[in-house]
Amino acid sequence: AATILKQSVSTNGIKKKLAVMTSGGDSPGMNAAVRAVVRAGIHYGCDVYAVYEGYEGLLRGGQYLKKMEWEDVRGWLSEGGTLIGTARSLDFRQRWGRKQAAGNLISEGIDALIVCGGDGSLTGADLFRHEWPSLVEELVKDGKFTQEQVEPYKNLTIVGLVGSIDNDMSGTDSTIGAYSSLERISEMVDYIDATAKSHSRAFVVEVMGRHCGWLALMAGIATGADYIFIPERASPKGKWEDDLKEVCKRHKSKGRRNITVIVAEGALDNELNPITAEDVKNVLVELGLDTRVTILGHVQRGGTAVAHDRWLATLQGVDAVKAVLENTPETPSPLIGINENKIVRMPLVESVKLTGSVATAIAAKDFDKAISLRDPEFIELYENFLSTTVRDDGSELLPEDKRLNIGIVHVGAPSAALNAATRAATLYCLSHGHKPVAILNGFSGLIQTGEVKELSWLDVENWHNLGGSEIGTNRSVAAEDMGTIAYYFQKNKLDGLIILGGFEGFRSLKQLRDAREKYPIFNIPLVLIPSTVSNNVPGTEYSLGVDTCLNALVQYTDEIKQSASASRRRVFVVEVQGGHSGYIATFTGLVTGAVSVYTPEDKINLASIQEDIALLKENFSHDKGENRNGKILIRNEEASSVYSTDMISDIISEASSKKFGVRTAIPGHFQQGGSPSSKDRVIASRFAVRCIKFIEQWNERNQKTGENIDSKVLRFTFNDQAEKIPTVEHEDDSAAVICVNGSAISFKPVAELWENETNVALRKGHEVHWTEFKEINDVLSGRIRLRAEI
Ligand code: ATP
Repeated sequence: AATILKQSVSTNGIKKKLAVMTSGGDSPGMNAAVRAVVRAGIHYGCDVYAVYEGYEGLLRGGQYLKKMEWEDVRGWLSEGGTLIGTARSLDFRQRWGRKQAAGNLISEGIDALIVCGGDGSLTGADLFRHEWPSLVEELVKDGKFTQEQVEPYKNLTIVGLVGSIDNDMSGTDSTIGAYSSLERISEMVDYIDATAKSHSRAFVVEVMGRHCGWLALMAGIATGADYIFIPERASPKGKWEDDLKEVCKRHKSKGRRNITVIVAEGALDNELNPITAEDVKNVLVELGLDTRVTILGHVQRGGTAVAHDRWLATLQGVDAVKAVLENTPETPSPLIGINENKIVRMPLVESVKLTGSVATAIAAKDFDKAISLRDPEFIELYENFLSTTVRDDGSELLPEDKRLNIGIVHVGAPSAALNAATRAATLYCLSHGHKPVAILNGFSGLIQTGEVKELSWLDVENWHNLGGSEIGTNRSVAAEDMGTIAYYFQKNKLDGLIILGGFEGFRSLKQLRDAREKYPIFNIPLVLIPSTVSNNVPGTEYSLGVDTCLNALVQYTDEIKQSASASRRRVFVVEVQGGHSGYIATFTGLVTGAVSVYTPEDKINLASIQEDIALLKENFSHDKGENRNGKILIRNEEASSVYSTDMISDIISEASSKKFGVRTAIPGHFQQGGSPSSKDRVIASRFAVRCIKFIEQWNERNQKTGENIDSKVLRFTFNDQAEKIPTVEHEDDSAAVICVNGSAISFKPVAELWENETNVALRKGHEVHWTEFKEINDVLSGRIRLRAEI
């Protein structure tokens, strides 16, 4: 990103002017998107305009098209809603309205529009682009402009960003705002759970989603709900009532005190009759349950964006500007999406069409088609929800000879969602007839006491939202006493092991695999779910707990920034965790709009601190009083052995000539987060189920061939994307790490990772997959502009 620095972009010799707008329902993260577009646009040499009040503003023109300066978007990352306003415009649906809008854009010399909104807004935008040449022609005919005047603006460039809490756009895993909404819902249901448990009540919670069940499904998983109703999977008319009763009765009989049912507002039966929260309540009352209904309504739109939406909107906003600059009249309008961890572009029209076809399929009662049009993750998670929650009636039990004993162990510091993953693994095991065996207090616990616990349904009942580790965790690695560990593996007849941990978990996995020759009991599938806020497990871009940690840091920095509003002109040097990995520091910078980020990968030196001082002075020189919040510098705990957090603070303070004050802030263990974020809860469940399937498949293959497990190559893939990844064949595939890379999830053999991708001394991978984000941070903080000016 940084390389196109200061390049002035022009169309036909005229400086490129682009506009950004938000439209349709507001969603958290829209401001982050506008901020990124404005700053990236200016960085690339464009003039950037904000269209106020959606398409309504485009029609009105004049002051509704405001040229934005770098400073105008300061502090926007932490603001909820959309600061440039949104509106629903009936006039824009008319051709005369769009002609008026075209005239207003041409008057300002703007021929590129970045629209952040839902499918309606993007449909309107694409129509606008198609009509543009004829609208321009008409404007000339009408005498509004001369042919010469419109000559440079023959084509309109449209780029779409999906801002919607529903997450209903086909082709992208998440839309800007969806995870913030999910987080609000999960928080609310957690609150409700507490009172529901106290009174042994049932609660029916209605969430948004007229044609899309994403919020209801994810909330169902994240809150450990008993049942969900979503539009894509219509419940059988006249039968759903009994199905619901059966599941709730069963869960009550297992000892659950409360019942939670999540209903999407667009829930239907298969004859297209709406299923309302009230309908569901009536059924539960028939069952004898004291039942209440909560309709969450607009709180779901509310509040400041979670970390996920902040970085998503930021990265997508930057990419939208690049897409504008790369666009030609021949390229179809792009939509910026995300696939697992990768920002992607796809044709806007096709995605919008596909999105619309879900509603059409539902209207035609073709529910199989409706769900098949959702992305693979949606279908996978829906199946997981059924497997772990609804089909615990024996319908998914495997034959006796396929039932396994699966060990679960936690290693290292307790990052968030260890319990959520253990719960999902346990519930999946139980519905399939496997025995979930928790190894208590890590490997050293096993060595010292041999204590294990067979987990029951009720044991894990409310673990979805508990921080810490309920089965106990320990930093010690397996190699402390392999013989004893092997003895207890044998004693408990383990057929597979899931390790939840960070680098020490990774190390233990490697040690167990290496000990196979000496202790053949370790010739079972062994799999690690990376779980650490440092995100330093080699081979993967994501670890459980990272999202929770980022949310904690977002909250922390937002609050300390606020605290500075009283005194003004204050800088905070915030020290974050991460060991030798600069991932958390980099992402914290991205989601908090930090002035500077210090990571172990880029050493701190006097020159960089000098740059910080110059940037801070520049920042404060624009401070006209309306923007009173503090400025943030992020320093990773291992970024330098010389330039400590205190020392950096002192140097900057000394150089500030008393123009601003400097303080240090160290959130420490706060970063591990209390309750896991809803995103971490969902990923925990997804990874846990995948790992059990991995163990099942290895055992099945072993049973079939009777061969020694580590003597043959076998690779497991769960979707087409994973298959596209080129992987090196290795005989030790059965000891593996579940990894996310770009848009793929795969199991990578630990031996291979250790050999090729691990820096053992620094406890992290060789590859630094966050360099690009650091550069984007430097662009958006203004550091690169400043460097160029100096
Ligand atoms: P949400 O997800 O909140 O529903 P949305 O973008 O789908 O967001 P809509 O109300 O459907 O919200 O659309 C927002 C605006 O986009 C409309 O008020 C209208 O101005 C414009 N728009 C929508 N559909 C069209 C269309 N087919 N042609 C022209 N303009 C449209």
